[in-house]
Amino acid sequence: MAALLKVKNLTKHFVVERNLFGRELSVVQAVNDVNLEIQPGETLGLVGESGCGKSTVARLIMRLINPTEGQIWFQGQEITELSRSAMQSIRAAIQMIFQDPYSSLDPRMTVNQIIGEGLKLNDSISAKEKKSLIQEIMAKVGLRPEHYDRHPHEFSGGQRQRIGIARVLILKPKLLVADEPVSALDVSIQAQVLNLMENLGSEFGLTYLFISHDLSVVEHISDRIAVMYLGKIVELAPTESLFTACKHPYTKALLSAVPCPDVGVKKKRIILNGSVPSPLNPPKGCRFHTRCPTAQPKCHQSEPDFDQVKPGHWVACHFPVSG
Ligand code: SF4
Repeated sequence: MAALLKVKNLTKHFVVERNLFGRELSVVQAVNDVNLEIQPGETLGLVGESGCGKSTVARLIMRLINPTEGQIWFQGQEITELSRSAMQSIRAAIQMIFQDPYSSLDPRMTVNQIIGEGLKLNDSISAKEKKSLIQEIMAKVGLRPEHYDRHPHEFSGGQRQRIGIARVLILKPKLLVADEPVSALDVSIQAQVLNLMENLGSEFGLTYLFISHDLSVVEHISDRIAVMYLGKIVELAPTESLFTACKHPYTKALLSAVPCPDVGVKKKRIILNGSVPSPLNPPKGCRFHTRCPTAQPKCHQSEPDFDQVKPGHWVACHFPVSG
């Protein structure tokens, strides 16, 4: 099956300082050589600590920023350098769900105006049809008919995220890039919104790139999970394979922080030393070697390749662990 989205060697460096002659003095290496494919109908989780580059990957895929290197294909068409006007034709098909629904909703607009905004340019449907389309989408995301004329401040965080989802769903997208869509919500509400997204995914045949700093959030919704560290993908595997037999020491540390669902069973938490190094000056060799509990001299010198260790399970580590 052809991938819905494919990114190859995707790289984004932000120049933060230049000398008088324009020479780059310091560069933030936010994303380095990221390769991904997402199949139609698949949910790919993208996980890593804050600042690892996952949101920059989202912005690159949305074409909100241009890559320094690399290419992006959507439905087989290369979109890396499409102009703003050329992007218009596929803009509706790639939509984004944000972390903070409140800041992404205009407080002066009513729910029906917000959800119907994307239909404004569509002259082929009547006002009556628009209204029933909005009401239909509201019902799909669990908003009640009386919410139609209300404003965002009248809703809870979970309901606002439902409005945000309805706003993109009405455009009939193919790919939804969800950047930490539940991390601003209470834990009890998180599960409701995750279930909603999963159900809508099945009903509308959606494909998700689901970004989170929390492995336990992406576990149930993702078919595969990619783990990012300091701008690079260090492990990519089917969800079950990652949770039962991860290969990268960083993934192992992240997994040790995921609460065990079995009552009374306690896992030994792996505490990593130090903080994530600055992407202004990433370590040589393996980028994780400054914090890796199993680093060896080779790791300081040579960068590991991203190798397939079993079908569909890829890892960048000279000395993979047994999960
Ligand atoms: Fe750790 Fe070395 Fe593997 Fe990097 S290559 S994750 S430092 S063992």
